[in-house]
Amino acid sequence: MENSRRDFLRRTCALVAGVSVSPFAANGTTDTETEQAIKYAIIHDETKCIGCNACAEACRETNHVPEGVSRLSIEKTGPYGEYPNQYYHFTRHSCEHCEDAPCVNVCPTGAAYIDKKTGIVSVKADKCVGCQYCLLACPYDIRFINPVTKAADKCDFCQETNLKQGKQPACVEVCPTNALVFGNLKDPNSLLVSTLKTNATQRNKQDLGTRPKLFRITAKPGEISI
Ligand code: SF4
Ligand code: SF4
Ligand code: SF4
Repeated sequence: MENSRRDFLRRTCALVAGVSVSPFAANGTTDTETEQAIKYAIIHDETKCIGCNACAEACRETNHVPEGVSRLSIEKTGPYGEYPNQYYHFTRHSCEHCEDAPCVNVCPTGAAYIDKKTGIVSVKADKCVGCQYCLLACPYDIRFINPVTKAADKCDFCQETNLKQGKQPACVEVCPTNALVFGNLKDPNSLLVSTLKTNATQRNKQDLGTRPKLFRITAKPGEISI
């Protein structure tokens, strides 16, 4: 019942905001609407991920995320296969930095916004009134109210921390298997673009038209929906 209500609210928010339902071109590199020089994106290579959670811990520490909430988690599913050859799958759960972001579209105060220079979807905590419209509108269920700031919070690609210092996002920096690749979709020489060109990737819920910029090199076949 609660799920139905939540789904209804999401759909209503999306309709009010005029969210597109048209599918987006593969790999998200086509963009006729903006000519920004930087469009940050991230790849999670699930075939390299060992589920160590170092990324989630680094995110918490770097961005001062309180206990009980998180900007990033790694979902573990399995075991798959037959003993003794069993294995697990690990899926990243974090903001997908949608180009057509329902959270931004429904925010009544402008606290939720897309940075025009980088494409990062972020939150101005001092403008947030805690109405939670964005939490309901996000189809990926990744927003939360920060118990310290009382504002909506989520992954911002370490915009205010590591990126400001010219570093890679904390999760990318710390990953021991290089399962995460962060970079600029507009830079044809970036590792991000070359990785996208040489691997099959998937994005979540593309049918919603949100154009997420979290790409997955999947460890399991078929559509992903989390
Ligand atoms: S740090 Fe890397 S290997 Fe460990 S859980 Fe995160 S993405 Fe996976
Ligand atoms: S994943 Fe959710 S919070 Fe992130 S940009 Fe998309 S709608 Fe907004
Ligand atoms: S990019 Fe930064 S804020 Fe986003 S999940 Fe990684 S460490 Fe956390």
